[in-house]
Amino acid sequence: MGRIFSGIQPSGELHIGNYLGAVKNWVALQHTAESIFCIVDYHAIITAYEPAQLRQRRREMAIGLLAAGLDPQVCSLFVQSDVPEHTELAWIFNTVTPLGELERQTQFKDKSQRMESVSAGLLNYPILQAADILLYRADLVPVGEDQLQHLELSRVIARRWNAEFAPDTGFFPEPQPKLTPTRRIMGLDGQSKMSKSMGNTIGLLESKDEIWTKLRPAVTDPKRIKKTDPGTPEVCNIYQLHKAFSAPDTVEHVAVQCSTAGWGCIDCKKVLLESMETELVPIRARAERLRAEPSLVDDALATGAGRCRATARETMQGVRERMGFA
Ligand code: SF4
Repeated sequence: MGRIFSGIQPSGELHIGNYLGAVKNWVALQHTAESIFCIVDYHAIITAYEPAQLRQRRREMAIGLLAAGLDPQVCSLFVQSDVPEHTELAWIFNTVTPLGELERQTQFKDKSQRMESVSAGLLNYPILQAADILLYRADLVPVGEDQLQHLELSRVIARRWNAEFAPDTGFFPEPQPKLTPTRRIMGLDGQSKMSKSMGNTIGLLESKDEIWTKLRPAVTDPKRIKKTDPGTPEVCNIYQLHKAFSAPDTVEHVAVQCSTAGWGCIDCKKVLLESMETELVPIRARAERLRAEPSLVDDALATGAGRCRATARETMQGVRERMGFA
């Protein structure tokens, strides 16, 4: 059985883009391999932030992940800064990572262009990601396509470190991507990826009324101006959400009703809301229980961090021996 590692930034409440694009997949994967999921708070401090907000967002993310179905009896869920070896290994990897590889990363180029002042942390971010994965010598990393380049860099770093310090052993495995099956989820504006910074999200734990307030005005096929105008479901984000939440026969019904102008977009969205409720009501109930009993969250994170610390120490012991520190 291989080992899976994946991380998520503590951006606060999970939204359905995170859920469909990553976390739902993690919930399934946790039963297939030894699985480690990390709330990567060191990654979240690359841009300006409020310490009190970071604390609260980390907590909210843990509640969201557990409510979504990560089971601390089955997988390890922990907060990155609770295992200091992540930053220790990141420093070591700094010394074997070519600067040119970092400067070539598309995400760095995109983000740095939009910033007045660029921190070394933004440039070195993929090195910390490599340390996150390789600290656990994970074989598989569930990722979206936008993370493939960073994962390739993790393999480069593993290769370079192995060549330098463990040429015969392949101490660090080269982690392989496990592409997330759901294509990227667009936001309610239908224009850009669902993301908190774009303000186009639906929170995973929002109430039915809150979801409807957002869903009702959400962008649909722009060609459906009047109810009698037939639409093209494939170009509509609401249809994509049906594919994620509705039963197959409902998805088929939506396609027919849309393309024949058999119903209006509000009818379509009402059906989507009910499909979402079927999946989200139990998640909200679990979140309520976790809020009522904070020790459940504390225990889950402490157990996860304990297990991960033991693995991390073992890896670092091997690293120190091979590098002349021990
Ligand atoms: S009927 Fe549904 S799928 Fe068709 S455009 Fe309207 S919201 Fe989108």
